[in-house]
Amino acid sequence: MTPISGCGHRQWFSQPGLINCSGVVRSPKFSRRQPSALLLANIGQLLTLRLASGKPGPRRDSDLKALGIIAHGAVLCLGGKIVSVGTTKEALRDPWLKKNRKRIIEIDCAGKVVLPGFVDSHTHPVFVSPRLVDFEKRIEGASYEQIAAAGGGIRSSLEGVRNAGKKLLADKVLDALRDMAAHGTTTVEAKSGYGLTIESEMKSLEAIAEAARRWPGTVVPTLLGAHVVPAEFQGRSQKYVETVCTEMIPQAAKRKLAQFVDVFCDKVAFSPEQTVQIFEAATQYGLKVRAHMGQLSETAVASFLRFDPASLDHMDHVNESDVVLLAKHNTVVTFVPGANYFLGLRDFAPARKMIDAGVPVALATDYNPGTSPTINMAMAMSLACTHMKMSPAESIAAATINGAWALRLADRKGSIEAGKDADLAVFDVDDYREIPYWFGGNRCSTTVLGGVIYQGSSR
Ligand SMILES: [Zn+2]
Repeated sequence: MTPISGCGHRQWFSQPGLINCSGVVRSPKFSRRQPSALLLANIGQLLTLRLASGKPGPRRDSDLKALGIIAHGAVLCLGGKIVSVGTTKEALRDPWLKKNRKRIIEIDCAGKVVLPGFVDSHTHPVFVSPRLVDFEKRIEGASYEQIAAAGGGIRSSLEGVRNAGKKLLADKVLDALRDMAAHGTTTVEAKSGYGLTIESEMKSLEAIAEAARRWPGTVVPTLLGAHVVPAEFQGRSQKYVETVCTEMIPQAAKRKLAQFVDVFCDKVAFSPEQTVQIFEAATQYGLKVRAHMGQLSETAVASFLRFDPASLDHMDHVNESDVVLLAKHNTVVTFVPGANYFLGLRDFAPARKMIDAGVPVALATDYNPGTSPTINMAMAMSLACTHMKMSPAESIAAATINGAWALRLADRKGSIEAGKDADLAVFDVDDYREIPYWFGGNRCSTTVLGGVIYQGSSR
């Protein structure tokens, strides 16, 4: 156990107590006040994701399955940060903890599994309605392109967002964030992209900011003005790209509404040349970049790597030489198997080939109304195991530490180590492999977001 006597000034939470993970403590949802001191003890398997070698950069090769497990573990958090990680025995022997135990909120994990809160590094939460017509059309056999051509797809979500008030959008985002917390997610990347006018893209980013203020987890906002070419710019896509570059990106940067700029680079959306143009504008305004790539068709990635994209997402279609190239970079390839599942595709991204070649990979939900209406990271992990042949251990690292890398937040998120944010998930299972095994449900019993405890379902 790291010594905790040098923690400096502490303000104690006034209502200390014991919470038993095997008991039922439902209604409080988020505690109003952040407890200053929180101890999770009696953890059966504590997945720290700490890498013994200390090798820098995103996890790749065999490091992707190194979970840094401590049996009979304990974690102490102060002021929203992790300060001490070890065994329960070590924790209980600690003189500082002994002296102050009565004033610490304690969670008895009853032998269950604790891991870093999931980092969902790819979501589209700003929308109003589910796309049920698309759902039925697809079941009847229409393709992604046919649905888009018939006025469905991304464009059909535009009307709802353009007509909605900011408060309604913020409430929708917050509902999703709460649901995510209930499933063990503590950090969420949230994209705009269903407005596609300057006004409605800014409104979407403001709604994300408003929801983020009301949620104790961490939200990373992304401008996805380049999602598709909206109907009013049909046949004039270059004109729309200019609007993204000269209006949306400068406004989002100036108002600090986005940290990233994303582009859907594919045959139904934006060309590689347009993607480069948008990346150049983002870089000029100090925003980092990421892209949807290789979902429907293969695109060579070499021209994008000079922008050091944090992540290239989907990558169902990728050529051999790009796999070799990506293995030499810290750009994370983020798989979103929920989309493949929901679209009823037979093929999934070639995860095994990429992992074995040394490409760093992450997993995300791609939460969106058209192609992946799920907020459940454990479900994404389960799909990665069954359809992409990732091991349960690999799926956990991809959903935590490499998700943090995909957001350039690995110094704060994705592993349970002293100094990192107190973002933790308690799963009501005895063995971590059960997390992707029990697919489709929710075994997360408690989530800690920046030191704030969340228990129970949001719905
Ligand atoms: Zn997406």
